[in-house]
Amino acid sequence: RLITSAPVSPKEEEMERALRPKHLSEYVGQEKIRGQLQIFIEAARRRREALDHVLLFGPPGLGKTTLAHIIAREMGVSLRQTSGPVLERPGDLAALLTNLEPNDVLFIDEIHRLSPVVEEILYPALEDYQLDIMIGEGPAARSVKLDLPPFTLVGATTRAGMLTNPLRDRFGIISRLEFYSVEELTKIVTRSAALLNAEISADGAIEIARRSRGTPRIVNRLLRRVRDFAEVKADGHITRPVADAALVMLDVDIIGLDVMDRKLLLAVMEKFGGGPVGVDNLAAAISEERGTIEDVLEPYLIQQGYMKRTPRGRMATTIAYQHFGMALPKNGLS
Ligand code: ADP
Repeated sequence: RLITSAPVSPKEEEMERALRPKHLSEYVGQEKIRGQLQIFIEAARRRREALDHVLLFGPPGLGKTTLAHIIAREMGVSLRQTSGPVLERPGDLAALLTNLEPNDVLFIDEIHRLSPVVEEILYPALEDYQLDIMIGEGPAARSVKLDLPPFTLVGATTRAGMLTNPLRDRFGIISRLEFYSVEELTKIVTRSAALLNAEISADGAIEIARRSRGTPRIVNRLLRRVRDFAEVKADGHITRPVADAALVMLDVDIIGLDVMDRKLLLAVMEKFGGGPVGVDNLAAAISEERGTIEDVLEPYLIQQGYMKRTPRGRMATTIAYQHFGMALPKNGLS
């Protein structure tokens, strides 16, 4: 699977770390959040204060984790990383918070999956750097208040809509990461190829960039696989024809849709007459989780105009029919 939200193997994880830009100046694209952070980080550093809490949202692989690490590095502080589902009990979060040094960054991935009891103790921590926690059980239980060092929470989520209002309100900086342009992905893949010592031509880089679903994680993954192909089936040099042949073998089509994207679009067109179809019916039809459709598959298809989200459900668009060389339904797309 090319489009999972997380690296699939330790080796892949290691490669992601190696290719991760370390400074804001190396972080490609996302001009808006980059510009804001540059100013806010500089101001916080001058005042020797913690940066405001930051919420980053957007589909997997667009650079949320990378940005969290860059924020810590640019602030000159350490980063602690965890994720919503890992923090099961208030004590798990308390242990992390009480171990922070002043102005450190706490990164919580999948922050929309925090349990309500954990979220509850996060509020005063974010607002006043105060920890308010119950120790013990039954009649012996008592409430303890602790002062925390100032810190920055960086929260990441695939969908800002899943956050509770009180949690969202406590972030000073909220930013939505956008899909990357082909030019931006070309920059990223060219830099990655240099780091991996892979020989790549300019048009080879563009070809991989064009077929990476607007996503840095995917462009880096495809690069590695294309490099393998180039070494075994060609002279190691990644040219456009080599990239194309490798991507065909990987089942990535000419506009960069992979097997799951095509399965989803074809289901809308072939099983539901182009829609509208509810996301749960669609999930059942392709044996995929609803969350995967909403977070991973459809954002790119919608952004590229192959699919539409309407109040009555998902619909395929005319250009989706054209892409698959299929005739539009007789009564048109309702
Ligand atoms: P997310 O946390 O949003 O799922 P990551 O931050 O883990 O995404 O990014 C996945 C990979 O993509 C990283 O290993 C990094 O190499 C690359 N990447 C992400 N954003 C950028 C960027 N703006 N510039 C260069 N590389 C990036």
